[in-house]
Amino acid sequence: MPDTATLHPAAAVPVDAPAATLRLTEVFLSLQGETSRAGLPTVFVRLAGCPLRCRWCDTPYSFQGGETVTLNALLARIADYGVNTVCVTGGEPLAQKNCPMLLTALCDAGYSVSLETSGALDVSGVDPRVSRIVDLKPPGSGEDARNRWENLTHLTPHDEIKFVLADRADYEWAREVLRAQKLDQVCPVLFSPVQGELPPAQLAEWVLADRLPVRMQVQLHKILWGNTPGR
Ligand code: SF4
Repeated sequence: MPDTATLHPAAAVPVDAPAATLRLTEVFLSLQGETSRAGLPTVFVRLAGCPLRCRWCDTPYSFQGGETVTLNALLARIADYGVNTVCVTGGEPLAQKNCPMLLTALCDAGYSVSLETSGALDVSGVDPRVSRIVDLKPPGSGEDARNRWENLTHLTPHDEIKFVLADRADYEWAREVLRAQKLDQVCPVLFSPVQGELPPAQLAEWVLADRLPVRMQVQLHKILWGNTPGR
């Protein structure tokens, strides 16, 4: 049995390595800006590092650096916010080997947990209690060759697939993938415009014209606070 004495009280079920470390860019309280959880007060855990370089990335400050924290210390910081919903994001959180352990610890502690991932890494090992928000990168991202298509076979209705679209070509690519893979029968599908490139109203018109079974979304946190880190 692992030593549970040093675990934060919120972690009712211990993980195997309570002193495991993670590289953390930031942890903060905000409103969830996307997905079916949009609008919910949420603690965001942004892990550092990402092997991708999407052309329109809005969190390049997470690529390098970061504070090294133990799992115990991170759980304690999350618990201090007193909010039941946690989103683990990045960067690409799954690029850190201890990320799955963090996700399981959060679930064990009773949180409602989501994971935002690029779709380039294997999601099959993620705790099934976690709602996986998996990107499919269109050509306009410059990282479409990194899509790990096998991930689609692991998704359940508890997960969500997200397309971030820069232009009409991206939209048509996403529409084709949606239809060919019948993604809406797998889980909810999200279409988002790249901020400052594709006007949200334009994307809305396209979705309506094609009667697509997707949730068109804008980033609530950016409407409220702009691109401010930690909001
Ligand atoms: S996967 Fe996410 S964090 Fe990484 S470069 Fe793309 S948008 Fe940025």
